[in-house]
Amino acid sequence: MSLVNRQLRLKTRPEGLVRQDNFDLVELPVPELAEGQALVRVLYLSMDPTNRVWMSDIPQYMPPVAIGDTMRGLGLGRVVASRSSHYAEGDLVQGLVGWQDYAVLDEARAKDWVKLPPKPPVSLPTLLGACGFSGITAYYGLTEITPVQPGETLVVSAAAGSVGSIAGQIGKLRGARVVGIAGGPDKCRHLIDDLGFDAAVDYKADDWKEQLKQATPDGVHVNFENVGGPVMRAVMSRMVNGGRVALCGLIANYANGGRPSDDYSVIIVKRLTVRGFLAFDYRDSQKAVQDLIGWVKEGKVKAGETVAEGLENAPTVLNRLFEGTSTGKLVLRVHGE
Ligand code: NAP
Repeated sequence: MSLVNRQLRLKTRPEGLVRQDNFDLVELPVPELAEGQALVRVLYLSMDPTNRVWMSDIPQYMPPVAIGDTMRGLGLGRVVASRSSHYAEGDLVQGLVGWQDYAVLDEARAKDWVKLPPKPPVSLPTLLGACGFSGITAYYGLTEITPVQPGETLVVSAAAGSVGSIAGQIGKLRGARVVGIAGGPDKCRHLIDDLGFDAAVDYKADDWKEQLKQATPDGVHVNFENVGGPVMRAVMSRMVNGGRVALCGLIANYANGGRPSDDYSVIIVKRLTVRGFLAFDYRDSQKAVQDLIGWVKEGKVKAGETVAEGLENAPTVLNRLFEGTSTGKLVLRVHGE
């Protein structure tokens, strides 16, 4: 019996949040493998803010997904058939599997795929989150882009999310005073009680700017910026002269199709150093992954995930990143093992 592959293909470009009808769910037989190819059954998809950016026809670091194409997406899966000497049945691989049940892996593009240990030391969702791309982003942001020093005040926005939760914990490991910004009292409690942050600011509360001021009496030395918009403006206004900004993401702008028209004069007045970066440039780094796995296993870093179910739900599950209804890494289980 031939296997059926469901694919979510981009039908129209979303405006604002993603709608289910921005996608077509098509079913077609799994293609015959050519020499050098392997078939990967997708187990988990990583739900990333960048998925939303890829849906928009705006300048970005990869071409936007074309109308009619299967949605691009990072994920991991098992090899279930192989005509490649590089990949055997049972291998666990991570790469741009796409929003579909099965991906075809071509050994000519082996550099785009990471082969994972068949029995990984942490769970598969953690391999996509704390010990995967999110963890790598936080790790290099705070070690190479803007190394944070003991005693400095580090502010992390979207702090209860996938990248932010790890960035804050790495800041603590490096001896910084860590302040997280997140939406709602539950997330703020989680930052302090579960993740060991020194203070938390609920940006959805009326007095959030006052909370930020109270939490940063010595100003802000390093801003790990995940959000942009009013949150970024408020943090920048608290920065010390000569402060550093790791510009990781601007999620407040992704779904409104617009670009911020912010006033950048604070960068001049406070002599700030602002460095943008892409974790993509560090994707081959095994050092970060090994360190992160070690920290998670030793209990020095807590990994957390929100697991949603069902390939067909991917478009609306992605919205949870913009609605703030996930904590830690948001993943979508496509198939159980
Ligand atoms: P995430 O933090 O797990 O999820 C996004 C969170 O952002 C939401 O849970 C929500 O939390 C918050 N948020 C959404 N809209 C907001 C708004 N308008 N104002 C304030 N907060 C808002 O997602 P992630 O994957 O870890 O990504 C976090 C950021 O890092 C994104 O900007 C992403 O693009 C960026 N990133 C960059 C790289 C890189 O290579 N540079 C790599 C990965 C991710 P609340 O409930 O707290 O509102």
